[in-house]
Amino acid sequence: MINLCDFTLEELTEYFKNLGEASFRAKQVFSFIAKGCESIDDLTCLSKALREKLKCECEIFLPKVERKLVSKIDGTIKYLLTLSDGNIIETVAMKYHHGISVCVSSQVGCAMGCTFCASTLGGRVRNLTPGEITGQIIRVGKDLGERVSNIVVMGIGEPFDNYENLIKFLKNINNPEGVNLGYRHITVSTCGIVPKIIDFANQGMSVNLAVSLHAPTDEYRKAIMPIAKKYSLNELLDACRYYFNKTGRRITYEYALIEGKNSSDECARLLIELFKNDNCHINLIPVNDVKERGNVRVSKKRVEEFKNMLTRSHVTATVRRELGSDISASCGQLRNSAIEQ
Ligand code: SAH
Repeated sequence: MINLCDFTLEELTEYFKNLGEASFRAKQVFSFIAKGCESIDDLTCLSKALREKLKCECEIFLPKVERKLVSKIDGTIKYLLTLSDGNIIETVAMKYHHGISVCVSSQVGCAMGCTFCASTLGGRVRNLTPGEITGQIIRVGKDLGERVSNIVVMGIGEPFDNYENLIKFLKNINNPEGVNLGYRHITVSTCGIVPKIIDFANQGMSVNLAVSLHAPTDEYRKAIMPIAKKYSLNELLDACRYYFNKTGRRITYEYALIEGKNSSDECARLLIELFKNDNCHINLIPVNDVKERGNVRVSKKRVEEFKNMLTRSHVTATVRRELGSDISASCGQLRNSAIEQ
C-alpha cells in the first residue's frame, strides 16, 4: 500500500496527474494530511468515486500512540509510536513557554555504535520513510491539540544515514501548503557523516545543524564514537565551517561530559584551541544514564567548571537542560523498544 504521507507535494502532484486528476487535488490532499486527516474516507475534498479509486492502492498512515509517558518533573512527554509494520519508535514532546518542541526519530535503531547511547544498542533495523518522520509531528500536534513550533531531529537514529528521506521530510514540513514550519525552527543533529554535511550545506535550506562532537581530539573521539575512525576531526570541522559559510547558521557542538573520558581540564583546553576562532556554540550535556553502558556522569560542579573554562576563553557554551529524566526521555536514552526499557 502506498502511504500518501510519504509523498512530497511534487510527487503527489505527479501521482494525481497520472490518475488523470487536476494538480490542485494534490495540494488539497497534502494540506488535509498536514492537518491530521487519517483516512482516505476523510478526504472530503475529493469525490466519493476518486476516494474509492485511491483506496485500492493508497492509505494515509500516521504512527499510532502505543504508550504515552509524562514526566512528573517537567511535563515532558515521551510517546511510544507504532508503525505500520509493528516497529515501535520514540518521540519526545517538550513544552516551552513559546510552544511545543518535538524531538523526532529518523530510524528504527541506529548503526552508529556510539558507546554512550541507548539508541544504537540493537543496531539499525530500518530507515523511517518521510511520512513516518512527518507523521510523528502530526501525531503529537494532534494529541496535544497544539501547534508544534520547533523540531529537533535528535531522536533515535542517524538522520544523515537516511539522507533522502530526511530531505523529503524537511521539505514537507516546510511547505506552506503543509505544516508550514520555517527551516530556522528545525535542528538536525548528526554524529558527523562528513560528505552528507557538505551535501546538506549545498541543499540551500537554512536548517540549524548540531554536531555530536563529544571529544576534542581524534584519539579521544575514536575511543567513544566509531564514526571518528572514518572521518577525522579536521575533516569534520572543515565541513562544519563550510556549512556555516553556506547557510549563515551557527553550528552547535554537542558534548556529553563523561567522568574519566572527556571532562578533564586538558580536554577543555583542547576544545578552546579548536574553537577559539569560530562562531559556534558548545552545548554541554552531563552524560545521561544508559544502564548497559556504565558511563559515569560528572558532578554538577565539574560541569560548571568545564563550562567556565570555555566561556572565560570566549568559547560560547551552555549546559543543556535535562528534560524527562524520570521517563528515560533525555538525550541518548531513547531506544528501540524491542530492547527492554
Ligand atoms: N545520531 C544523531 C542524532 C541523535 S541526537 C547524533 O548523533 O547527533 C542525540 C544526542 O544525544 C547526540 O548528540 C548524542 O550524541 C547525545 N547522546 C547520546 N547518548 C547520550 C547520553 N547517554 N547522554 C547524553 N547525551 C547523549
